[in-house]
Amino acid sequence: QDNNVESQTDVLIIGAGPSGLMAAYWMARCGIRARIVDKRRTKVFTGQADGLRMRTMELFDSMGFQHRVQQEGHVAVEANFWVPDGKGGLVRQGPHCSSKVNESPFRHMLLNQGRIERFLLDSIKQHSDLKIERGTIAECFEYNKDMEDDPSGYPITVKLRSRSENEANPPGLDRTGTSSDPVANELNQGNLNPDDWDDFTQKSQSEQSQTEFIKAKYLIGCDGAHSWTRKKLNIPLQGESTDHVWGVIDVVPISDFPDIRRLGTVAHESGTILVIPRERNLVRLYVPVQTIEDATTVNGRFNRSQVTLGVIKRRVQTIFAPYTFDFRICDWWTAYQVGQRIAPTFTKGNRVFLAGDAVHTHSPKVGLGMNMSMQDGFNIGWKVALVAGGVATPSILGTYDAERHRLAEMLLEFDRHWSGFFTEGEKDSKTQNMIKVVELFEDFADGRRSFYGASELVWKVDGSEGPSTARHLIPGERFPPVKLRMQADGNLRWTTRLFESDGRFRIVILAGDVREKRQMERVVTLTQYLSGSDPKTRSVLQRYAPIMGRFDCAVDIMAIHSGSWTEVEFFDFPKILRPFDPVTGWAYDKIWCDDACVWNRNCDGKGYEKWGVDRMRGAVLVLRPDQYIGWVGELEEVNDMISYLDGVLVRTVACDRP
Ligand code: FAD
Repeated sequence: QDNNVESQTDVLIIGAGPSGLMAAYWMARCGIRARIVDKRRTKVFTGQADGLRMRTMELFDSMGFQHRVQQEGHVAVEANFWVPDGKGGLVRQGPHCSSKVNESPFRHMLLNQGRIERFLLDSIKQHSDLKIERGTIAECFEYNKDMEDDPSGYPITVKLRSRSENEANPPGLDRTGTSSDPVANELNQGNLNPDDWDDFTQKSQSEQSQTEFIKAKYLIGCDGAHSWTRKKLNIPLQGESTDHVWGVIDVVPISDFPDIRRLGTVAHESGTILVIPRERNLVRLYVPVQTIEDATTVNGRFNRSQVTLGVIKRRVQTIFAPYTFDFRICDWWTAYQVGQRIAPTFTKGNRVFLAGDAVHTHSPKVGLGMNMSMQDGFNIGWKVALVAGGVATPSILGTYDAERHRLAEMLLEFDRHWSGFFTEGEKDSKTQNMIKVVELFEDFADGRRSFYGASELVWKVDGSEGPSTARHLIPGERFPPVKLRMQADGNLRWTTRLFESDGRFRIVILAGDVREKRQMERVVTLTQYLSGSDPKTRSVLQRYAPIMGRFDCAVDIMAIHSGSWTEVEFFDFPKILRPFDPVTGWAYDKIWCDDACVWNRNCDGKGYEKWGVDRMRGAVLVLRPDQYIGWVGELEEVNDMISYLDGVLVRTVACDRP
């Protein structure tokens, strides 16, 4: 019997896959009243996505857990392309390594999606008591358009139903939820990480189904490729399905193929295999199985049951010949047929948002599905968290669709180019063409460029360069990472970690060469403005709303100077850069220097050059909470900078400009 409950929340997230957990991270960090539900009883343990691009690793660093990926994952920097040698054998072309590999502190990593979900879950737990409500399905949806423009209104009503143990985990469906094939997912105690054990064994709380009608101010639909939320909004997925069927296997291979533990491809006249080495001796292989014309269909759809583990294994053996291939351990396998499809919009009324696979699907071979989905969740998460928390103005929500839709289109374009190589037969120029496509899309794919356009969150004039004061600090792009020294103790930190994803905007003063008196005076003048120079004005740190229970102000201030740390002292800097607490003393972590360090080559003192900033004059910028550059200017352009912040943050004090 149903037990109806009514409730309210500020933010409801449907789906606890990579995109939903990313959005939930921000709710946890910013202390937002939020709920997150997933119809499955457990997280993912095996299979699905496994590639992490550099930008995702940078985000993980800002969230505090990239080291866990480094510890468990497999680094993939070089790619090898194996092609027929014309004499019945295979020959290696490569290795190919991107010339831009050192533009990030991190490398492309390979690790199972289940582990990424683990790290996100642990991070959410570390910052809040937000729990994932598993075995809970969203079923009915109502949207009151009249409340759309009222920030205090709850325009969304969703019926949630908790599923009984049997319904959330029907007999025959394995715990990954991906297959009912008994051979498919041989997950067992032996290959389960110990910290996943509690999730693996947890049972549904309820014996019987319960329902709840929940009202929400904002809804983020992260419910995957068959998104229930998207369907309720009547937003279609547009695009084509491909006609090729693929097998994917995660196995511990027994093979004498020399590059079985290296990233690469193996080409054959009938198609190309993608080889992805992974953690725990696993290797993932993407295997072209057959075209849909060869396959029988059920109701016009490909009949997956034709592809068995044995079929995939035999295809690999044919393509790998004369090398051998076999396995005893299969961690996971599946067969799929995916097209490139995208939703025309990712939002309804800037109150309901769609993220991840819910709005873009493509083949997994570009290794971007999970990355793009998490970056969607990351982008919408901080915006909704700050608006729901009364910290940022609701108008910033309009930037989500503008920023992420364009990237999703690029993703599909990349996939169209890349996937074609795997189905066509071997050609003389194929390897070179593959490398060309990788180079064409790598800035986008690795996240070095984000291409976010001008908006209230991104103040820029069109063009790919930054302003003349900071040529490589381009609004709408990520802050190019650099390793810096802390002025007070000489310890080193990458800027990706320094600019922690804690919900705050950051005013970063590139203070220039403060050993010069004139330059220090410019810095002092700027900080006097920021501190509130006369009784009528207030410090910028008191001007904007707090992130309740977390920070007194949604803005933080930092300085990075270009001099040698030995020629300037911590106490030479203005007070706003070294806040003092009578109990805990000074905060030392606001003043940094771009100074070379003899004991660590990554800290080369070349940050200003990398940013295109004059080492003497410096510059000042505002970083958004996701570390994308929002505004850049001269030290004297403080009024312009305050206008930027006033446009996005809620003010607490009706005061004159500093
Ligand atoms: P998902 O991970 O799909 O998460 C959606 C969540 O929403 C699910 O947990 C689901 O239970 C929940 N949900 C759905 N409807 C409801 C509802 N009504 N109520 C409550 N909860 C709901 N990517 C790669 O990069 N490489 C790969 O090899 C690869 N292989 C894949 C194989 C399979 C079988 C699948 C399914 C995906 C694969 N992907 C791969 C894609 C990758 O896993 C996705 O891009 C990524 O998981 C997308 O994350 P997401 O959070 O947007 O969606």
